[in-house]
Amino acid sequence: MAEPRGSERRPEIDPQRCTGCGRCVAACDLHLLSLEPVRWQKFALLHDPDRCTGCSDCAVSCPFHAITLRRRGAAPVLDGGAARTSPSP
Ligand code: SF4
Ligand code: SF4
Repeated sequence: MAEPRGSERRPEIDPQRCTGCGRCVAACDLHLLSLEPVRWQKFALLHDPDRCTGCSDCAVSCPFHAITLRRRGAAPVLDGGAARTSPSP
């Protein structure tokens, strides 16, 4: 069951694990996640964190364990790849 709106928890997406499969995007009933292209790959992005209920459906749906629910302020929420450092040539 979903938690009330304004949950203290929200998903942190690890771009090192995210394959861009899109399962978390489909799992979010509120459509808060999307796939964003970064160079040749796509990564999941939480684009409206204030509406996130912290229900964890997205984390449960991820087969690559790329999503962790964290309390707000406990750690920076990654932006789905934009913060990733450029790979070495
Ligand atoms: S976070 Fe997980 S479920 Fe979502 S696109 Fe990335 S690998 Fe797929
Ligand atoms: S925790 Fe729930 S509401 Fe928040 S992004 Fe994931 S599926 Fe959507």
